[in-house]
Order: sequence, then C-alpha cells, then structure tokens
Amino acid sequence: MSSSIDLDNEIKAYALRGVIEYGKTTPGNVLPKLFQHGLKKEDIKTIMPQITKIVSEINKLKKDAAEKEYPKYEKYVVKREEKEKGIPEIDIKKGMKVVTRMAPEPSKYNHLGHAMTFLLNYLYAKKYNGKCLLRFEDTNPEKVSQEYVDAMKSDVLDYLEIKPDAIRFVSDDMPLLYEYAEKLIKMEKAFMCFCNREKMQDLRHKGIECECRMKAESHNMEEWKLFLKGKFKEGEAVLRVKGDMKSQNHVMRDSVLFRQINAKHYRHGTKYKVWPMYDFYNPIEDSFMGITLILRSNEFDLRVELQDYIKDLLKLDKQMIVQYGRFNVIDFTTKGREIRELVESGELIGWDDPRLITLRALKRRGITKEAIYELTNQVGLSKNQVNLDFDIIAAINRKIIDKTSNRYFFVPNSISLKIINHPDTEETEIPIHPNKPEVKRVLPVSAADISISKQDYETFKGKEIRLLRLYNVKLPIKGKKAQFTSLENKDIPKITWVSLGTNTKVLMPDGNWIKGKSDSGILNLKEGNIIQFERFGFCRCDKNKKGICEFWFSHK
Ligand SMILES: [Zn+2]
Repeated sequence: MSSSIDLDNEIKAYALRGVIEYGKTTPGNVLPKLFQHGLKKEDIKTIMPQITKIVSEINKLKKDAAEKEYPKYEKYVVKREEKEKGIPEIDIKKGMKVVTRMAPEPSKYNHLGHAMTFLLNYLYAKKYNGKCLLRFEDTNPEKVSQEYVDAMKSDVLDYLEIKPDAIRFVSDDMPLLYEYAEKLIKMEKAFMCFCNREKMQDLRHKGIECECRMKAESHNMEEWKLFLKGKFKEGEAVLRVKGDMKSQNHVMRDSVLFRQINAKHYRHGTKYKVWPMYDFYNPIEDSFMGITLILRSNEFDLRVELQDYIKDLLKLDKQMIVQYGRFNVIDFTTKGREIRELVESGELIGWDDPRLITLRALKRRGITKEAIYELTNQVGLSKNQVNLDFDIIAAINRKIIDKTSNRYFFVPNSISLKIINHPDTEETEIPIHPNKPEVKRVLPVSAADISISKQDYETFKGKEIRLLRLYNVKLPIKGKKAQFTSLENKDIPKITWVSLGTNTKVLMPDGNWIKGKSDSGILNLKEGNIIQFERFGFCRCDKNKKGICEFWFSHK
C-alpha cells in the first residue's frame, strides 16, 4: 500500500473541530474518528505521522481562525448516526403520495402536545418521501393574531427545525369557502337561520327542525348575499347545514357553518364579516390542499361525522386517517386561556415560564429539539392515552445533553470560607467533561475565599470533607474558618466549591431564583449554551454579559 493514506481532509476537519470546541486537540482525539472513514487498525502506524503533523499545524490556529476554516472541511466529518428506532411503519397504500398537514389555530402559544402532533405529521411525510404543509386555521378574528403566527414560526419551525413544503392561511381562501357555501345552498343542503340562540338550543335538544329550514333555495341565497354584505347584526343570522335533527349525534343537528364576526381580522381587516366554522373549512381545505394522510389523536370525536357528511355533499376527497392516543402532560397547565390569565396577572413571568410546557418554555430551559423528536418517536402512535410527566422528558434530554454539556461548579446560597494552614495552591485543573479527561479548565484558588453552598455547610459542619479535586478541609462548627487537613483523596464526602467566584442566578422550575457563585469558567459561555453544574443539575445559559450571569435550570 502507499506510504500515506488519503484522509488529510478528514483529519483537518476533526482537528479544527477540536480547536473550536476545546481550544486545542491531540492526535489521540482525532485518530479514533478516522475508523468511520475506512481507516484499518493495521494502518494506524502509517497514518500517525500525518495526524501528528496536521494536528500540530491546526493547534497553532486561534479559535476564530479555526471557525473560519472549518466550513471548508465540515463535509468530511461524518455525523454520528443516532441509534434511534424512528417512527413505526404505517400501512401506506402502494403508489399513494403522502401529503400531510400541520394545522394550528394561531390563537395561542404551542405546547409539547401540539409539537408532537406536528412532528408526527412532519416525520411521516419525510419517512414516505411526501410533503408536509402548514395551514394556519385563522378564521376566528376574535382569537387569532399575527403574534401567534410569528410564535408558530419561532417556536415550532425554528426550534424544531421543521420545514413545511408550503404555508397557507385559511383566511386567504374566503372566496373559495363562500363558493362552497353557495354550492350547499343551491343543493338545498344549507339554509339561513334567524332563530335566536336559546330557541335553537331548545329545538336541537328536542330534535325539532326550525321553520327557517323550509325556505326556498332562492330565498336563502338572497339572505346569504345580504349576510356577506354585513346587512345583519352580529349574532342575528347564521348559515346552517341541513343535517338530521333526529340524529343521536347532536353535531349532526343542523350545525352552524358560518357566523358573523365584526372584529377586525389581523390579516384581512374588515374585508370579511362572515366566517366559517371548523367543520366546514376543514374538509374543504384538506381536499383543496391535496392532503392524503392525517395523523390525529383518537379522542372520541363527534365532529368527524359532520365533516364526512360535508365531504360527501361536496364530493371532496377523503384522507387516510391514522389515530393515536392523546398526549397528556401531567401537572402542567396547557389551557391557553388559563395561561393567559396567569401571565396577565403576573403570576407567571410569561408564556416561557418554566412552570409551563409551552415550546418556548422548554427551549429556554434547555430541552433540545432532539429530545422532542425522540419522545415523539417513542410514544408516537401508542393506541392509549399517553401520560407524560416531566421526568420522562428530562430522562430523554439528559441522555442527549450529558454527552455535550461541559461541567462547571455552582454553589447555591454560597458561604465564603477562609482556609487555615493551606498548601500553596494557586490554581487547580479540572476536566471540562468526564469523557474528555484531557481537556481541562483552570480554576483559581485563593484560600482566603473559598465558597461552598449553605446546604453543604449545614450538612457537614464540624466534619472533614474534600473540596472536589482540590484538597481536604475540616469545616468549622460555626464561623468561617476551615482547617486544611490533607491532599489525600480519601473516602469522605466531596463537595463543590468555587474560589473568587462569579455571582450567578439560576431560575428553578418552580419559578424561583437561586443565587450563588459559580466558577469563572462560565464567563466564556454564550447565551443558549447548555452545561452541567456538578452536583446541581443541567442548566441553560440565558444571559451572560455585563456581570449578569443567569441560567435556567433544565433538570437534574
Ligand atoms: Zn331557524
């Protein structure tokens, strides 16, 4: 074989990545990565000089120079494929073109349950090389707004990296929806009704048809035109489907298809006053957009019968439906109205409050996109209701972030100690991550200022403890003077500490802040970095500038 093996680009890529992540790298870090590029064990000897040479060149680069260089080589790096089981197969008819949709109403911030529904529809479209469309169901001007459209983009599309093949707004289809309404009127399957709400409630309850139902088609059409022009008062008239007033399913008893809402629409202003109900636009939009597959929860839904009835009347396409158990997240409020009240009263800090499972709350706490994908894969098509609690989410997320989260020290509610008879230690080196023992962070040590947490102080006062990876001291029973005892790594409690620490605040899942001190390594962190404070938990860096260091607690 030839004297050199052609893996220079790969070596450069991994070396650059090492420099970007840790400041420098070693041949030992690069070598193992090369096996996935076809390097054989017997070639190690041959390739080592190449690796050593390239690594020493790359190590001369500063981090920003390495960052500039890396994109040229990124394509040589194999992203390790996660051993995920993926979503289960479904029985797609041969030759069927899969088109799914995500159909949010932009009237709220989406939470984890919504995300999983969106993801299922998205992932199945990907799995079967189909398309996934995004449809904003924005036909209630009183509830929908641009704020929630934007939130859908940032919370769902950006955070979860979902790329819909097209984006549509139901409110842009009003002329089409009016056209279909007129079709029903002409077929004598819809009629204008002027009965008041109480009367209609009573008649529907008793299964008696109202007199409006008897009108001629031309009469209905005339009234419908006036309705569209806004000639009636809000609430005075509605368009109803001619259903079956004797049906066991009350949804079939002449339900409303269109009602008047005068409120200004965020997209169309006051152009339209007559707005369709979900059961009407949903079958039309699905058919019009060419949707072929719908994944939805199997809650007993009386409305399906009405939607199917409308599909039959208007000769619309039917979709393949796959049902799954509802996702229920325990102990978290998910009701939009409830959350809005709590936000407005100041009880919650916002829609991203850590006590919520809105996507923006999860993102800000450091729950990764990958965790939400994996959760969806795991529970995706369960037939029964899925009860999720945060521990399940945390367990999945922990597996993902543990590998990449660098370690730091944080002592909550810190107490500063002075160490007596201490050795002359000015700094100590600590691995940044247990999997990377060769990459160290340097902690300054001043025996005149070692902080430990109040809880550790209370638990271990009067006892000998080891300051993690530093030395052993005996804590005082009271006061601030601790006695150095030895360097030996003995079997005694080991606690975290910081010296000359940085004031740090952590927002906990209950909405309370914990103040303390952390090691100055955190000053290099950027907003969005997820780290682990040893013995404390995983946290996401939320703010880190001008002396303000704030983290959001992810989980243990
Ligand atoms: Zn009536």
